Amino acid sequence: MGRRRFFYASAAALLVCVGLSYVHQSGLLADHLARLRREATQAVPVLREIAATAGTERRRYSLVPILCFHNIDGKGPYSVSRAEFRGYLERIRDNGITVIPLRELQAAAEENRLLDRPSIVITIDDDYKNIVRVGAPLLREFRYPATFFFYTIDIMNDPRWGTSWDDLRRLYDEGFDVQNHSYTHTIFHIRLPGESRAEYDLRVHREIYTSREILQQNLPDAELYAFAYPMGYFSADLRSRLENAGYELLLTTDSNPVDLTKPFTGTFDRYTIQKRFVKNPEAMFQLQLQYALSPHESGDVAAD
Ligand SMILES: [Zn+2]
Repeated sequence: MGRRRFFYASAAALLVCVGLSYVHQSGLLADHLARLRREATQAVPVLREIAATAGTERRRYSLVPILCFHNIDGKGPYSVSRAEFRGYLERIRDNGITVIPLRELQAAAEENRLLDRPSIVITIDDDYKNIVRVGAPLLREFRYPATFFFYTIDIMNDPRWGTSWDDLRRLYDEGFDVQNHSYTHTIFHIRLPGESRAEYDLRVHREIYTSREILQQNLPDAELYAFAYPMGYFSADLRSRLENAGYELLLTTDSNPVDLTKPFTGTFDRYTIQKRFVKNPEAMFQLQLQYALSPHESGDVAAD
């Protein structure tokens, strides 16, 4: 019996020792884990910094195409169908290109500030009803900003007859940019045969001042800073008249992407989406995507 008691006593002592050791060990383990956790937490910002300096975030982009759409009924050389319009938006998204507001591109160009991701700007011209009914909802679906250039002579109060002022107010309230595209959408970069200087001055005044006053009356909160030349016609004289009128940005249809390394001139070119007057519309659109996707390679920036 004595030996048995000794055995039980020894076994109990051993269990106590093992138990104490376990408690001690698990305490150490807990401390160890806590330290590892602390160190890992401290390492996260360092790792982020390494990733930022080593990876694609270092890339910068200097070429930004501005697309110019018109009608979205699929009829005519400058028109695209609803499905085609959606297709363009999808391809911009699927290529990882960000659609930025025109005003944001202007700010970057003024500072010769390159962008940290591939970017594109969307504009839509004229007064087609379907750009409000079809274009704007699709742009909203993709959460894309856009600038709409309207000429004002045909904007109606009654939406049954075409694009109405309510349509423009709705676009503006939804966060879209609404800018000026003249009063009559005619050619006014030069004098007409037989037109006197005074007559021409009056005509140009109506196209660039009166149109803006009409837009402003109907969109009192809108900041009207840009003017798109109707059909892309411009001259040095018209350009200086527009600058004197206070426009900060003039838009042509000359197809070149905006180059953020070049000095800001106050004029941006745009690529018009069209079918009939370019040899290969698909290749031309692909070219715009390629401009946006090409990282800037040399360090030359005009303002440096
Ligand atoms: Zn136009």
